[in-house]
Amino acid sequence: MAGYAVGMALKEYRGKRRSGRSPEPAGRTLRRGQSKAPRFVIQHHAASTDHYDFRLEIDGVLASWAVPKGPSTIPKDKRMARRTEDHPMEYEDFEGIIPEGEYGAGRVIVWDRGTYTNEGKHDIADALKRGHLSFRLDGEKLRGGYALTRFRRGKDEAWLLVKKSDEDADARRKPIRSQPESVLSGRTLDELS
Ligand code: MN
Repeated sequence: MAGYAVGMALKEYRGKRRSGRSPEPAGRTLRRGQSKAPRFVIQHHAASTDHYDFRLEIDGVLASWAVPKGPSTIPKDKRMARRTEDHPMEYEDFEGIIPEGEYGAGRVIVWDRGTYTNEGKHDIADALKRGHLSFRLDGEKLRGGYALTRFRRGKDEAWLLVKKSDEDADARRKPIRSQPESVLSGRTLDELS
């Protein structure tokens, strides 16, 4: 039901985008200050390797992980998540093409975004240091509980991103495949120009 509604909304949105209006990034649905809930964004990034950049607002920046296979809605899937550098909050609505020769060269779309709730017993910044985050996503595609757990420290810090078993777990949705488009523009990576 919810997935269907989201799909319809995107279709409407896409229709508007293609009726000749300018392709500038759409404004945020929630401006900072209107909502206290911290934000999350997932960008699909076709760089030298295809991956999803999973970013959580923590202490005013976007703490970031590169997830090669992207997030799953299936609790038994353990998705490798390599910690990458923090990004500024403004990056949350970036989509476009990073030119050849620049860091991260390739195409980027905003695959999902929304807000999250910390469900752990520690403050989220503290949980990040401790290496275990438990949170609930309220995005356009992803919802419900997830955990990020560090299993390797150091320069090549690695974590696992796992869906929790709850009412939003779903073995059939496979949103990475069934909903490849941007939640900002309705475009897929291939449709960027
Ligand atoms: Mn990336």
